[in-house]
Amino acid sequence: MARRALLALLVGLLMLEAGAIPAAPPPEALSSSAAAGRGIRPFSVYYAMRHVRRLAGRIGPRVTGTDAETRAARYFRRRLRDKGYVTNVQRFEVDGGSSRNVVAWWPGARRYPVVLGAHMDTVAGAPGANDNASGVAILIDIARALAGRKHARNVRLVAFGSEESGSNGIHHVGSNVFVKRLGKKGRRRVAGMVSVDMVADGRPLIIGTAGIGHPVVARTLYRRLKRAGFDVVYRTICDCSDNGPFELAGIPGAFMWSGTEPNYHDPSDTVKNMSRRDLRRSGRAVRRFVRGLDIKTLRQFRAQG
Ligand SMILES: [Zn+2]
Repeated sequence: MARRALLALLVGLLMLEAGAIPAAPPPEALSSSAAAGRGIRPFSVYYAMRHVRRLAGRIGPRVTGTDAETRAARYFRRRLRDKGYVTNVQRFEVDGGSSRNVVAWWPGARRYPVVLGAHMDTVAGAPGANDNASGVAILIDIARALAGRKHARNVRLVAFGSEESGSNGIHHVGSNVFVKRLGKKGRRRVAGMVSVDMVADGRPLIIGTAGIGHPVVARTLYRRLKRAGFDVVYRTICDCSDNGPFELAGIPGAFMWSGTEPNYHDPSDTVKNMSRRDLRRSGRAVRRFVRGLDIKTLRQFRAQG
């Protein structure tokens, strides 16, 4: 019996060597769960790339109000629920179709969280790997990194529908719906917002605001990343991502963006044409920001709201 077990083990090892048994994820994909309940797990570009491939590869272009956008929303919701998050779907009508936001939070989350948002939709014909499967993938992996840790209480993760302009020329519909439905009281309770949008194709990482709301979140994000050694620059740009509606409502907003790139809003915005290395950089940046969120920081944000 013992000899047979030993033989089986040896055969198993040989098969593993030969690649017959599926290999375990690389070490970077694994959490440092020995320190359970303490630090946030590392960001995993291995898992994030899986989400990008699923969204931009298998689902493909995710135009607002289409089936593909709904599939992306379902994918985000499932991944978050599997990790133990509570989710809520906000449906709304847009451009003759139905779109949705998926909102997720850790059970027992704080009343005054920072919203981390990323839009799921794309323009017609664009697989949207960089714009913006990259942001959604980072949100999903940050959710994994935070699950069960105290830091998870400080954020609300939102996958927005309908960020891109519809045929009526209106954009940021999902984030606008989210802000409206918060109500007056709810808006006062959101400490700040960061839109993670197009973050996997370019350096340095650009942080800033739409120039409408208070820059406290953007400034803090920028300063902390800079101090942590990230290659970042600060810029005030147009109202061109989901931080816009938050800033307009008086909630300090910020965006994270890897800059202009040749595949923008084009069928060439594919998984192959985005940068895994830049995705990892941005994922680590979001993780670094969330790690530094504490009661004091949330209060500083709210004092400016
Ligand atoms: Zn975008």
